[in-house]
Amino acid sequence: MTEPIIRVEGLRKYYDTTGGFVDRLLGNEQLVKAVDGVDLELYEGETLGIVGESGCGKTSLGRAMLRLIEPTDGSVYYHGEDLTELSSRKLRAVRKDLQYIFQDPLSSLNPRMTVGDIVGEPLDIHGLASGAERNERIYELLDVVGLSPSHADRYPHEFSGGQRQRIGIARALAVDPEVIVCDEPVSALDVSVQAQILNLLEDLQEEFGLSYIFIAHDLSVVEHISDRVAVMYLGEIVETGTTEEVYQPPNHPYAEALLSAIPEPDPLWDGDQILLSGSVPSPLDPPSGCRFHSRCPKIIQPDGVDVDPSEWRSAMNFKHRIDDGSSVEAVVARTRDEDPAEVSRERLDTLVRSEFDLPDRLSDPDLETAFSEAIDAVHDDDLDAAADALADRFRSPCEAEPPDAIDVGGGHRIACHLQDEQYADERLRHADHAD
Ligand code: SF4
Repeated sequence: MTEPIIRVEGLRKYYDTTGGFVDRLLGNEQLVKAVDGVDLELYEGETLGIVGESGCGKTSLGRAMLRLIEPTDGSVYYHGEDLTELSSRKLRAVRKDLQYIFQDPLSSLNPRMTVGDIVGEPLDIHGLASGAERNERIYELLDVVGLSPSHADRYPHEFSGGQRQRIGIARALAVDPEVIVCDEPVSALDVSVQAQILNLLEDLQEEFGLSYIFIAHDLSVVEHISDRVAVMYLGEIVETGTTEEVYQPPNHPYAEALLSAIPEPDPLWDGDQILLSGSVPSPLDPPSGCRFHSRCPKIIQPDGVDVDPSEWRSAMNFKHRIDDGSSVEAVVARTRDEDPAEVSRERLDTLVRSEFDLPDRLSDPDLETAFSEAIDAVHDDDLDAAADALADRFRSPCEAEPPDAIDVGGGHRIACHLQDEQYADERLRHADHAD
């Protein structure tokens, strides 16, 4: 197999949000783990899509790869040379080959510069052209991206969103790069304009032999343009494969949920829409084990438990709420407009089952007993005792160990315990449930 142009190994980007000197002294460090141990490869002439919800770390990943922000740890090899080790002088020289297109064309273009000077600036920085040759090159670049040489004397605010993105692309192309990181390049644009910009990027890739890293939250856009796709969740890559592999089963449960939510019917996807419980956890304190376990509809059941997957998910949601230390009684009472002090044990039981979508009796007797003890403890306002009551039965292997990325065929990698043979029965349970 050919060597990748870019190989990312164990890349991390943490942001230190510690309050101040005293916090630091007391060891109260607050690190936002935006990118946490990412491995990736980009091959010549391909487009690698990086997809995930907003806040999953994909922009930090793109910027850390090109050292627009300094990585905290890890390596980025470009043609075998580690960018993270380069001096600033050497990095400046390499940057010519590695360009970045930003999401918001307006804020990334200097409003006081003419379009000609914006596109010509990289030529000046790298000493690539001057005088008449510089002007010629600017006109040529504007033409390549579908603008006209007469636009060179105008200012960014005189253009539409799509035209401004064309200016950003022309600026990136000015230095004849090999790789471009396109960071949500069409998400600020109307759908009709999106297609024009995507087509332009594809044409330019073919004409100039470019390789793209294409960052987006929109799976339809990524599917349209990518050869391979990496799915990101809370700072980690959870699935990688060719576009065809990632857009059809088997999938990581997070990728499956994203795919099921594409609004337009996708020819490669025929399942129902999967609604994820809860919101993306804070990257300041990501969940233990598999980071997706607090929302995963397929979270694995422990030995000896065999209930409907949706019942298990609801049971684990209840357990996580108790572990988080939030008073279920108060939450329930607030939402139902009842005074927590007045809620009877029986009423609390009913409200909690309704709040967490649990049946009148859990189908596993041991789970029901543990749940009942936890409700007793919550009613006595003793959350520690409630957590203890649930600790034994309400637990999943997914909380304990982070899953390794497992090759499910031809380089399609999924980081989920369900792909491990020891959990083959769990896979069957979900397959049966889906039928
Ligand atoms: S490891 Fe467990 S929680 Fe994580 S995605 Fe797989 S089944 Fe879900």
